[in-house]
Amino acid sequence: MSKTTKAVVKKQAKTKASTTKRTANKSVSTNFVYAFGKKTDGNATMRDLLGGKGANLAEMASIGLPVPPGFTISTEVCGYYYDNGKTYPASLSKSVLKAIKQIESQLGKSFGGRSNPLLVSVRSGARDSMPGMMDTILNLGLNDVTVEGLAEISGNSRFAWDCYRRFIQMYGDVVMGVQARSEEEEEPFHEILEKMKRKLKVETDSDLSTENLKALVDQYKSLIRKRTRSAFPQDVFEQLWGATSAVFSSWRNERAILYRQQYAIPAEWGTAVNIQAMVFGNAGDDSATGVAFTRDPANGEKVFYGEYLINAQGEDVVAGVRTPNAIAKLADELPQSYRDLEKVRNKLEKHFKDMQDFEFTIEGGRLFILQTRNGKRTGLAAVRIAVEMQRERLMSQETALLKIPAESIDSLLVPVFDPKALKAAPIIGKGLPAGPGAATGRIAFTAATAEAETRKGNKVVLCRNETSPDDLKGMLHSQGILTSRGGVSSHAALVARQLGKVCICGASEVVINYDKKTLTAGKVVLKEGDYISIDGSTGLIYKGMIESADSEVKRVLEGGLKANKSYTYELFQTVMSWADKHRTLNVRTNADTPAMAKQAVAFGAEGIGLCRTEHMFFDGERIDIMRQMILAADEVQRRSALKKLLPFQKKDFVGLFKAMEGRPVTIRLLDPPLHEFLPHDDVVRRQLAEKLGVPFDFVIDRIKALHEENPMLGCRGCRLGIIYPEITEMQARALFEAAAQVSKGKKAIKIKAEIMIPLVGFRAELADQLAIVHRVAAEVMKKHKVKIDYLVGTMIEVPRAAITADEIAHEADFFSFGTNDLTQTTLGLSRDDMGLFYDQYQSKEIYNQNPFASLDQTGVGKLVELAVERGRQTKPNIKLGICGEHAGDPMSIDFCHRTGLNYVSCSPPRVPIARLAAAQARLRNK
Ligand code: PEP
Ligand code: MG
Repeated sequence: MSKTTKAVVKKQAKTKASTTKRTANKSVSTNFVYAFGKKTDGNATMRDLLGGKGANLAEMASIGLPVPPGFTISTEVCGYYYDNGKTYPASLSKSVLKAIKQIESQLGKSFGGRSNPLLVSVRSGARDSMPGMMDTILNLGLNDVTVEGLAEISGNSRFAWDCYRRFIQMYGDVVMGVQARSEEEEEPFHEILEKMKRKLKVETDSDLSTENLKALVDQYKSLIRKRTRSAFPQDVFEQLWGATSAVFSSWRNERAILYRQQYAIPAEWGTAVNIQAMVFGNAGDDSATGVAFTRDPANGEKVFYGEYLINAQGEDVVAGVRTPNAIAKLADELPQSYRDLEKVRNKLEKHFKDMQDFEFTIEGGRLFILQTRNGKRTGLAAVRIAVEMQRERLMSQETALLKIPAESIDSLLVPVFDPKALKAAPIIGKGLPAGPGAATGRIAFTAATAEAETRKGNKVVLCRNETSPDDLKGMLHSQGILTSRGGVSSHAALVARQLGKVCICGASEVVINYDKKTLTAGKVVLKEGDYISIDGSTGLIYKGMIESADSEVKRVLEGGLKANKSYTYELFQTVMSWADKHRTLNVRTNADTPAMAKQAVAFGAEGIGLCRTEHMFFDGERIDIMRQMILAADEVQRRSALKKLLPFQKKDFVGLFKAMEGRPVTIRLLDPPLHEFLPHDDVVRRQLAEKLGVPFDFVIDRIKALHEENPMLGCRGCRLGIIYPEITEMQARALFEAAAQVSKGKKAIKIKAEIMIPLVGFRAELADQLAIVHRVAAEVMKKHKVKIDYLVGTMIEVPRAAITADEIAHEADFFSFGTNDLTQTTLGLSRDDMGLFYDQYQSKEIYNQNPFASLDQTGVGKLVELAVERGRQTKPNIKLGICGEHAGDPMSIDFCHRTGLNYVSCSPPRVPIARLAAAQARLRNK
């Protein structure tokens, strides 16, 4: 999920406007109900008001697709409902009544009538689909009287009573709250049903007779009475309002909130409610229900993809309780319906110009379409569908680029199992491949265990019979998800695909026993905590842990596979070359070693935007010299240690310059508090004292002297270079010496060095450091008789730097926004200590997202804008970049584009995402 950045960014931009509109409309709008069917009020562009489902139902009705008639209660009503103590606008009930009458007259049925009763479904529908997160009620309108009418008109009393028991079950669960009371407890209606089947010694629900179903209805009703002390309602309008309120209320259920956080969906959007005439896929053997995708949502291939069940209702397919048939089989079972369905598939793609995920029902051989939406897809599928649809002229290159969630590029780069290790691994089962990639982890049988284990640092694979939306949190924590039941459109598959999780579902030979906490596959019995490996691309399940290997794209980039042997690589290249054509933001990388730099260049990095030099001092022998330098009692001792460090530092810089082959390289001077380099443990401290030939007490005293209460706000950043100028001098010398060496000789590389001073808040701080850098540069250039192209700039990472950017710009050739520290200092929020309250802040929706992951545009963003404006006042052509973690986040990249930065600099694996996000930002903001 992954999350569609485009949508998310648009959302942010639109939220404010639409909220204002909604509030404004509240007093003037009287139209809360929009019909679809013979007369259709809405269309596909009205998602904000009608939700995605309502808008598309209206659109389908208006292009002549067979949609059962109905109406949508708008999202405005959801806002009203919450703002007014869960009540409705006064005019609503009249409009609903009128809309019901319209359905009645179109179908010649009557709602609550004995003969030919009208039944409806009541479903949620937010602006962006939130699959399975909110509630749905089917078969509404049945009661003790209408069930008889349905039996008569259909000539099938078994069918009527089956609908009735399903309705009571759903209504009892969703509206009246009769549910399992703990994770271990069985769902109570299901328990009654299973008990009856056991007693009657029958296998499936369809073996139950009319009389059995009548008895089941009685038992369900008593369960409701016992649990709620009220009766199941017989009044159909009471049912309708009960269901409508349940759907509106489900907008704020726990899993919907969690989902909204995951996908940055604003709480104020609200859901619409769709009320639609029921059609019956469970009306006999010439009836069916199913879900289809116009292309394969797992790998993007242009094949008709989906599944159905004969004689069943929609929730049977989605809930994953019965394993459905592949859509191709429908061509044998109901050939005419299959042909009709193929026509619908083509019409939908041509009209909506995107891969569609649609629900259908066949009632007595007649096809109905109940819903369509742009299908959720894996990252790989998103890329393939966009590229192929562009080739088929269904969309332009620009649209194709915007259709690919930038994060999905990652799934072309994710590891796969190491082929050698895979050969040796014991296959213990197979399921449906539903989310590609390779996952290894310990078995967790519940969402809670998955969460607890990952908090301990373990990787887990969540193994369930089937997942429900309540498992979302556990799924988020897992490497992969394995289910023994359910098809490719089951909850597990849909959600995993969106989250970009590896997933296998419907592995029917796998038996999961929650009580015994075992997973049995053939003769193999695994316990909770044992390792399991799953390949979501092939559907194969393996015992134990398997090493993973690089993706095809990575292998091509690193020379291990020929480009023309990999279609995935072709897709990757196509998208990247389109992106490069459209973007104006440059993409650099944060790299501290030649290996990282090379990887980033292979991914398309155009320079290094941040080399954290402190990372170069931790290795091997250097750490001891570094410690010697830190512990030095005076400048002489310090200089002597720095002299020893210089050759290491120089060698590293040579490596970086070579790896970057003439691209700009930004080197940041030492930044962290010095005590970070010192040992915490007395044994190591003693060893250090011995190595350095100083008394143990000396070491302890120096460590004490360097102690700081708030090191993040203490002696770090440029303050280090100001109090110990010899450190800046050594680093500058190493850099210019390296540059001089690399820019000479046969394989000379043109150097573009950018020296960056951290944590500056005052112009004078920068001026102090600048003087050292320029002096050393002049000395080295003179000594080696070379001219080195270099710039000196600063990070903008404390509010004072942003506020006084006009002054600082007098000294700086460039600014690089260090948004990690800028977030920390602006929010007064430690980068390392937000764990204690973060969850609460999220669930209270105080933070829409983690401010260290996605830039707080309304707060920190304002400082960035201010600094850009003031910096350019002084120096119109000042170079501007960002090197905080936000530089790899698509939403933040959109912000950087809008703010007019020149480049973003992110970690190497995120470079392709940033290239695509930068192009999308340009296209979106044209
Ligand atoms: C920053 O603060 O954003 C930054 C890039 O520097 P560091 O993360 O090293 O403090
Ligand atoms: Mg910083």
